[in-house]
Amino acid sequence: MSHLAPLLDLQELDLARDRLAANRLGLPERDALLRLEAEAIPIDASHAALQARRTALGLAEKALSSEVDGLAARAKETEQTLYSGSVRSPKELSGLQAEMQAFRARQGELETRELALLEEIESVDAEIAANREAQERMRVESRQIEALLRSAEERIDGELGSLLAARSNGLPAISAEVLAAYEKLRKRERLAGRVVARILEGGCTGCRMRLPIHEHNLMQARPEDALLVCPHCGRILVRSDPAPTA
Ligand SMILES: [Zn+2]
Repeated sequence: MSHLAPLLDLQELDLARDRLAANRLGLPERDALLRLEAEAIPIDASHAALQARRTALGLAEKALSSEVDGLAARAKETEQTLYSGSVRSPKELSGLQAEMQAFRARQGELETRELALLEEIESVDAEIAANREAQERMRVESRQIEALLRSAEERIDGELGSLLAARSNGLPAISAEVLAAYEKLRKRERLAGRVVARILEGGCTGCRMRLPIHEHNLMQARPEDALLVCPHCGRILVRSDPAPTA
C-alpha cells in the first residue's frame, strides 16, 4: 500500500467533518429562530405604541371624569340653593335654574365624551392583551426551538468529536511534510476539501486529466513516501497499489 494512502482516509474524515459543520450552521432551527425574532419586532413596537396610547387615554379619561364630578357638584350646589327657600326673587330663581341646566348639559356632554374614551380604552386594552398573548406564544415557541437547536447541535458535536478522535488516531501514519502540504491545500476554496486524489490509469482522479507520460513514469519511480502533486490541479497524488501478480 502506498505510504500516502492514509491521506485518503484523513480526507474522508475531514470531508465528513466539513459536511457536519455545514449542517450545524444550516440547522433549520436557526432560521426558525431568526424568523421568530423578525416577527416579534413589529409586535414589540406596536406593543410599546399601544402602551403609550393607553397611558394617554387613561390620563384624558381621568381629567374628564374629574371635570364631570366638578360639574355635578356645582349643579347640585345650585340645585340646593334653588330649593332652599333662601332665594325668593323670581328673576334670581330663573337665573339659578338656567345655571343648573347649563351645568347639567355640560356634564352630559362630557359624560358622552368620557364614555367614548372608555370604549376606546377597552379596545386598546384588548389589543394589548392580544399582543401579550402573541408575545407569550412566541416566547414559548422560541424556547422549544432553542431546545431543539441545542439537542441537534449536541448530536452533531458528538459526531464531530468521534470524527476528530478517528482523525487523531490516523495522524501518526502521515509524515509531517505531507500533512503540512495537505493542510495547506485544504485552505484552497476551489478544491473544496478534495485535495488528495489517486493516480488511476495514468490520470488524476481529482481533475480527471492525464498525467504527462514522462512525469507519470518519474512518479512511479519515486520512493513510496514521496510527496507527489498533480501538475494540472495541484492535488496530492496517491499511487494505486500495483496489480497483484499471480
Ligand atoms: Zn489533478
